[in-house]
Order: sequence, then structure tokens, then C-alpha cells
Amino acid sequence: MIGPLSGEILGRPGLEAGERRAEAIQCILAGTTIAEVRTALGLDAADERAVADHVRKASPWMAVVTLDPGDPDDWGDCPGISPHPGPPLPGRTELFWCGEVPGLGRVVEHTCLCIMTEYELLSYGGTYRIRRTTIPRAGVPTVSFTGGWRRPEAYEWWFRLLTGQAR
Ligand SMILES: [Zn+2]
Repeated sequence: MIGPLSGEILGRPGLEAGERRAEAIQCILAGTTIAEVRTALGLDAADERAVADHVRKASPWMAVVTLDPGDPDDWGDCPGISPHPGPPLPGRTELFWCGEVPGLGRVVEHTCLCIMTEYELLSYGGTYRIRRTTIPRAGVPTVSFTGGWRRPEAYEWWFRLLTGQAR
């Protein structure tokens, strides 16, 4: 995506901020990371903020996978590879979390380890559950599970969880 686009853009040095940002938003919504877009389009800090704000509103899930986690210092020892679950949104779906361990599953997706609460999507031979691991807290089991879905439904809930639409 960024290949042919970058050549075209770099060949038009007089590109206005508005056009540059519109191009960047298009690329990011198609899955290009902000780091690649930044280089290709020569975004400055103000561009980046405007683009990130727009992408977070337009597609919270794409924002999770394409935008930088911001200042690395904010994230402590963040390896910066796995997604960070977004803040829970008003009106989110409350998932039913159960402390009972459903046996051994295979981890197919997981959130970043730098966050206190880790979520993992597990496969149990065609059935999927999400495992939540938290630091010890009164009244909340450290490890709990939700789900029991088929694959497409499981990924939908996984995305909702990551985007704060379910928790
Ligand atoms: Zn992290």
C-alpha cells in the first residue's frame, strides 16, 4: 500500500497538511503502521496527533494495531509487539468471567505483558475462550475465563475486548 503511494507523495513536495493527513489516515485504516506512514509521508508531530485522533475514532481496533503506544517511557518495559487493550468504553458488554479452569487450551492471541491485566485467546480444539490474568485483588480471581465460542464469534469478542467494547 505504502510503496506506490509514497513515490507519488514524495514527488509532490507542496502537499498540504490536510492532504498529507488524509492520505495517512487512509493508509492506517488499511493496516499500515504509523511508523511506516510517518516515514513515507513525512508527518510532523501535529500531523501524527491529528491522524491518531481520527483513526482512534474511526476504527478503534485498527488504532490498537497500527498506532505506536506513544512515549515508550509511559509503558515501562513494553516489548511493543502485542496489542494493549483499550480503555473500557461506556456501554460496553460485561463478559461473564468464571474462575473455574476449563482444562488446557492453546494460546492463539494475547495482549501485551506490560499491562497489569493480561488477556489471552485460547483454543480448546475448535472452541475458544478468553483467559484473564490479573494481579491479586480482593474479590476477583487472579485467573478467570469467559467464552466457549466458535472461531468467528471468538475473534469478534476478542476484538471487542481489545477495543474496550467488552470487558
Ligand atoms: Zn506493552
